[in-house]
Amino acid sequence: MSVAKQLYQLQEVDLELESNEQALNQIASQLGESQAVVRAQTEFTLAQQRLEELGRQEHSIEWEIDDLTNKLATVEEKLYSGKIRNPKELTNLQHEVDGLKARRDQLEDKALETMSQVELSEASVASIRSELKRLEADWHRQQQQLSTDMEQLKTILSDLNHKRQLLSAKIDPGAVEFYHELKKQKGTAVAKVEQGLCRGCRISLSTTKLQQARSGSLVQCSSCGRILFLA
Ligand SMILES: [Zn+2]
Repeated sequence: MSVAKQLYQLQEVDLELESNEQALNQIASQLGESQAVVRAQTEFTLAQQRLEELGRQEHSIEWEIDDLTNKLATVEEKLYSGKIRNPKELTNLQHEVDGLKARRDQLEDKALETMSQVELSEASVASIRSELKRLEADWHRQQQQLSTDMEQLKTILSDLNHKRQLLSAKIDPGAVEFYHELKKQKGTAVAKVEQGLCRGCRISLSTTKLQQARSGSLVQCSSCGRILFLA
């Protein structure tokens, strides 16, 4: 086998290695925390806090209503006890009863409003919780898939590296070194020759170059400098 062909094969393996390494890096970048899950967790925490706050408000209104009801009972008892005869005092007590009732009505309206807010808030917490669960399940599935893909890629890469070792061991070390240098400079070191053209730079090759390339010796394109490989 000509050196050009050996180097071309090495290049094929290198390209495969590079594309699999890229895929592996891409997977690695997708492993880990999910922004969507983190967002949903924050949203869920905030919704729960809001619900707790509404619950506290609801209770404090209920306590205030109880308090007013007790006060009202005491004042009404006094008003209707028959013990107080002084008209001014009676009027004052009646005013007090009216005031307490008005305040209690207000609070009862507020209690109803808060109750409906609690219901809405509970519904919102439930819906965010189910969305969060869905996102977390998706994320777990995705992470598992990524881990599986990663393992497969690692096996492929290890096989390719092994193949590369075997290939390069058979090639003249000087030629391998030259290949690496060219690869560093140009990205690809070996160019196929097709229909008299260098596929690296698309220039038409001289008859002499073509003959040299055909003979299997190590020939560089006079234009781009790549090693020419004629299949
Ligand atoms: Zn060329």
